[in-house]
Amino acid sequence: MQEQVKLFHHNTLASLMSGLYEGTIEIGDLLKNGSFGIGTLAGVDGELIVLDGNAYIAKGNRTVRLVSADEKAPYAAVTTPHVTIQQKFDRTISDQTLLEEIEKKLLSRNLFHSVKVHGLFNKMHVRMSPGAKEGEQFVDVAARQPEYTEENISGTIVGYWTPELFHGMSVAGFHLHFISDDRQFGGHIMDFTMANGNLELGKIDQVIQNFPVEAERFLEADLDLEKLRGDIEKAE
Ligand SMILES: [Zn+2]
Repeated sequence: MQEQVKLFHHNTLASLMSGLYEGTIEIGDLLKNGSFGIGTLAGVDGELIVLDGNAYIAKGNRTVRLVSADEKAPYAAVTTPHVTIQQKFDRTISDQTLLEEIEKKLLSRNLFHSVKVHGLFNKMHVRMSPGAKEGEQFVDVAARQPEYTEENISGTIVGYWTPELFHGMSVAGFHLHFISDDRQFGGHIMDFTMANGNLELGKIDQVIQNFPVEAERFLEADLDLEKLRGDIEKAE
């Protein structure tokens, strides 16, 4: 049997959305579980991008830096992708068209997929979580997120496609971050136009849902699922 591709998922988006921002996994431990992924850092201070085994944080002040092994994340998802489908795009396309094309290529809408697109972008519009106090509702944090746009920038889209069933654990559909080739610009993707690029789509065989078992506030939290699912739609 071919080796199973595992998605290591620390904590859930629902607990993040309910204001549990305390860092609960060290980046060094996270990277032992995968070389590619997304998340945030303690205090939802920025957008985490894991690419080629390195973790970067894109912060609200428009800087990107490498994250050290002892920094902590409240939420992250990593895998070591196995490319199932590859496709080159050599015409200018909108984010909407590209995402539709990717959705057509999914092996199944019931499977998680890793999504990686390296390309040249005429425009890349991102935002960053600006950091928040523990307990502040994420929808309120989301309302004051800085946004930036770069033009003619080369870089990589890093993220996942999640089946509807797992909305709450993660965000259903696409959750995509970006990092430039020079590692100077990145964030959570809002929209873009791509001049050309190469898609690598990877099927995920297994999801490991890891919990912050020592986080007192998580253990005692009363998660209002209905509200959280709505909040995730609004904020993500
Ligand atoms: Zn994000």
